[in-house]
Amino acid sequence: MDSFVNDFDFENRIVESSVTEEDADTEVTLRPHTFDEYIGQEKAKEVLKIYIDAAKMRGDTLDHVLLYGPPGLGKTTLSGIIASELGVNFRVTSGPAIEKQGDLAALLTNLGEGDVLFIDEIHRLNRSIEEILYPAMEDFSLDIIIGKGPAARSIRLPLQHFTLIGATTRAGQLTTPLRDRFGVLLRLELYTPEELAKIVRRSAGILEIPIDGEGALEIASRSRGTPRIANRLLKRVRDYAQVKGDGEITLKVASDALKMLEIDELGLDNTDRKMMETMIKYYDGGPVGLDTLAATVGEEAVTIEDVYEPYLMQIGFVSRTPRGRCVTRLAYEHLGIPYRPGRDDGQMKIEN
Ligand code: ADP
Repeated sequence: MDSFVNDFDFENRIVESSVTEEDADTEVTLRPHTFDEYIGQEKAKEVLKIYIDAAKMRGDTLDHVLLYGPPGLGKTTLSGIIASELGVNFRVTSGPAIEKQGDLAALLTNLGEGDVLFIDEIHRLNRSIEEILYPAMEDFSLDIIIGKGPAARSIRLPLQHFTLIGATTRAGQLTTPLRDRFGVLLRLELYTPEELAKIVRRSAGILEIPIDGEGALEIASRSRGTPRIANRLLKRVRDYAQVKGDGEITLKVASDALKMLEIDELGLDNTDRKMMETMIKYYDGGPVGLDTLAATVGEEAVTIEDVYEPYLMQIGFVSRTPRGRCVTRLAYEHLGIPYRPGRDDGQMKIEN
């Protein structure tokens, strides 16, 4: 079974939903700047617009917002839009980038009235640093200790009123005291192929890539519900279209290019297929515990849960049961493996 682990290439996936080097050059160019440009997520947008208008009418700052959902769904983008709608500065940092209490204190004291501070991967903040946030979020003040030993004393510095926007893959990963200090909790959903097709067409327009409607939909349907992946696939398909065709992306060009990239019509790559095949081959299709699965495929449990599983669950290929993960009949059919009845195919689904 060990040799199987080596077959998984989690590092270099084209359908990786986190930022890769290849995205870096266009990520900023393609980022929407207004609610109108930001496609989909209608529920989140509606709620945010109301809160933003209310805050503006009261001349108050917006309540702290927690955005959660898989990587690449537009949490950073949406936060930037919130700041620009409020007409305030947008400061960006991330949990792992804040190493000392002093780093966060410096960020907080530099905020202007009403500014938005965005902390990506906020669940990865060190606990002692996180504690600085509690009084900052609640009372807009900073408690700092001056001196050491018996002479040490604590002083409280006032901060400007600001809005914290935290982003995380799952709200449940946050400690309760931190989560409780957010007034607005919003979950971003995976996008439908139609929404992603609009995003692909918008991006193609900005990058001046000729594409027709069917070509856009083809890329969209293989993008795992994730705009970041859609934009990346668009660029890959453009390269193919330029080399193998006349540069225009049509249905045929898109489907040939994605076939070459080994991304199937549902957006699954070899890693997904191998993960499900492993579950079938070694665990009879499940149930298999998350930690066992993680060890078998050589990836962290949390990554499987946050990055790979959401899409496989959305398309109904993997289900969660009280006893572990199961591959469903649909997935067997897709993989071309005969389904053996009598297995637990996830009938007893539980919500996470
Ligand atoms: P996250 O912070 O959730 O990882 P980002 O906000 O960085 O995701 O979004 C990744 C990319 O996807 C952005 O560069 C942006 O171009 C694109 N994107 C995300 N959401 C949307 C959307 N709703 N409409 C159009 N493009 C989007």
